[in-house]
Amino acid sequence: MKIDLHVHTAYSDGSGTVREVLQAAKAKGLDGLAITDHATLEGYFKAKQYSGGMLVLPGYELSTDAGHVLVIGLEHLPSEKDFVNYEWLVKWARGEGGLTVLAHPALNTSKQGRWVDCKTDAVEVLNASYPLSLFVKRGLKICKTLGVPSVGGSDAHFPGSVGDAYTVVETDGFRFEDFSRALRNGRVAFNGRLSPVSSRLRIGFRYLAWKTLPQRAF
Ligand SMILES: [Zn+2]
Ligand SMILES: [Zn+2]
Repeated sequence: MKIDLHVHTAYSDGSGTVREVLQAAKAKGLDGLAITDHATLEGYFKAKQYSGGMLVLPGYELSTDAGHVLVIGLEHLPSEKDFVNYEWLVKWARGEGGLTVLAHPALNTSKQGRWVDCKTDAVEVLNASYPLSLFVKRGLKICKTLGVPSVGGSDAHFPGSVGDAYTVVETDGFRFEDFSRALRNGRVAFNGRLSPVSSRLRIGFRYLAWKTLPQRAF
């Protein structure tokens, strides 16, 4: 199964509607995706309605004091979601039955010691929105240091980028539980490529604008 584990929609700083994102995922030949908007599940709930046979995993991306973390598999947010303690989040998500993924860790490795002491379930080695391919190598190194499975995601903020990077999952099942078991057993691998430079450059601006401008601007 090919699953893009990191996708944004217009419910946070992405430009695509949920339908556009799902169409793009299908066109790219994905079997599933996780909608991982910043601190909201709204896009996921919408996507679940229009999944059209695609596996849609619940997810969200949270900013922690040790970097961005993807939480996958939970249909609820923690009570604190704006700038949470990293260790608390990893333990909370595990206790609730969800998975955590260290998102684009190669962008800032200053918190690596904390990642080693409190490991997420996987590391996003290939993030298609990385500015340079050397970040993928750095991500691989971080992943090896942690000794956890490596995954890939597009971090798409535009429908056209969905599926540029993805995770290959060895499973015949089509539920979150099947995905989760495969990941915990290390039966996952990243694949794909970096998105075109133009879309990678626009992402940083969108994120900053989303943080500072009224939501209706999007
Ligand atoms: Zn992020
Ligand atoms: Zn993201």
